[in-house]
Amino acid sequence: MATVAIDPRLDRKTSDFIAQQHRMYIDGKFVNAASGKTFSIYNPATGEVMAQVPEAESADVDQAVRAARRAFDEGPWSRMSASQRGRLIWKLADLLEEHLEEFAAIESMDNGKPLAVARAADVPLAVDLFRYMAGWSTKIMGHSFPISASGEYLSYTLREPIGVVGQIIPWNFPLLMAAWKLGPALAAGCTIVLKLAEQTPLSGLRLAELIHEAGFPDGVVNVLTGFGEGAGAPLAAHELVDKIAFTGSTEVGRLIVHAAAGNLKKVSLELGGKSPAIIFPDADLDKAIPGTASAIFFNHGQCCCAGSRLFAHESIFDQVVEGVSDIASRIRIGSGLDPLTQMGPLVSEEQLQKVTSYIDSGLSEGANATAGGKKAADRGYFVQPTVLTCTTPQMKVVREEIFGPVVCALPFSDSDLERIAQEANNTEYGLAASIWTRDISVANKMAKRIRSGTVWINCHNVFDAALPFGGYKQSGWGREMGGEVLNNYTEVKAVALAL
Ligand code: NDP
Repeated sequence: MATVAIDPRLDRKTSDFIAQQHRMYIDGKFVNAASGKTFSIYNPATGEVMAQVPEAESADVDQAVRAARRAFDEGPWSRMSASQRGRLIWKLADLLEEHLEEFAAIESMDNGKPLAVARAADVPLAVDLFRYMAGWSTKIMGHSFPISASGEYLSYTLREPIGVVGQIIPWNFPLLMAAWKLGPALAAGCTIVLKLAEQTPLSGLRLAELIHEAGFPDGVVNVLTGFGEGAGAPLAAHELVDKIAFTGSTEVGRLIVHAAAGNLKKVSLELGGKSPAIIFPDADLDKAIPGTASAIFFNHGQCCCAGSRLFAHESIFDQVVEGVSDIASRIRIGSGLDPLTQMGPLVSEEQLQKVTSYIDSGLSEGANATAGGKKAADRGYFVQPTVLTCTTPQMKVVREEIFGPVVCALPFSDSDLERIAQEANNTEYGLAASIWTRDISVANKMAKRIRSGTVWINCHNVFDAALPFGGYKQSGWGREMGGEVLNNYTEVKAVALAL
């Protein structure tokens, strides 16, 4: 067993789970990698190894895909009624809810996020998502159509499961991303091979145990741990996979598209963002200042929809910058398990290097840090929440996704909504935006002009299983959640019957 350094604040059950010999879940069994290889999982608050997990490679991916193929083509799953599928998904939600505290602690240890956040957001949102999708199982249907071809016909469509789905998820919301992917695919009747992120596989492995306990037939859900190149790439390229669903960087999204080309599998992508938060001069600043601070600092800025470009009208710019900087400098940084912590560490050494080098690049190009600007501790992957002013649209920090607690504040002088929208839309991304104003006409006109999949008005980061989420432009293909996501996991069959 691995050398583990488990936090003494964890309860026995959670420590035992983290320290146990982890196995992947293939065809209803918990197994080691075929090669026997494992890799280390680090506690981001200390940088110490806390677990070892199997390293899946092509052979394991192939085994999992074949199990999913069998379960789809021959297994009891395809003969189950929609209602039975829904009940299993609901049961999984109940089991997850029963283990809420345990999952929150695992997520906090693995990802670094504050325990209170995992408890209030990650786990309940995952439970809700499963329940919402359980309800969809019995409501996936086609339509009947009057057609005008000569003769008399009964014509209708069927909505059928797309087949075997490969799903690849990132580390920022490990459990919730697994739920976003698994819930709709199960509701639609697909079978699944899920690859967890290399940094944060523990909640997904525990979820596999609950999937087993809930009684899903063998091979319906298979859960792999491994690296992007070793396990993700062969999954994306596998000839027996009908569809690949990916969340992560735009760069890897492009690789997925290439890998999927071999058998022209369907692809959905939820990628990066550089989302604007726009504060108009009439906004209620008592809400807009904490709201836009939370837009960037929630989950340590490791959100694809983080409000990382803060536009504020010049008449209130100084007040906004001062307010957001004040909040940034008062955020308590520490281990996710410390009840006083408001911001934990970044997920990995690599992410810490990436974020601090972005900050350095901004400062060297002439930006000014009105809060933060540095690493926050000698041990663990902590960075100070940072507010940069004096930035220009050409700087890397303004153009590229940093994926850390770093916001670039930019003033605007205009009242011309077209020009403000042009500035906000001046990015290759189009995932989300927030607009802060008391004027409902301005709010709705701006919402129409912003090219992104989500627009929040006087709020940011509001998620619900019923609300579709996804990107315009290079932020992705397709939508997660809501009824929309079912399009990712179903094919439409048209039937015309000559009467
Ligand atoms: P990646 O896009 O590299 O990783 C996301 C998932 O894809 C992981 O499971 C990863 O495996 C897998 N993957 C990596 N390479 C391949 C490949 N060639 N084929 C198939 N799957 C692959 O994100 P990172 O974790 O490396 O983070 C890098 C940056 O991506 C962040 O700094 C951030 O800017 C952005 N990001 C965006 C997210 C979003 O929600 N939009 C989420 C996470 C990151 P592995 O676990 O080995 O990396």
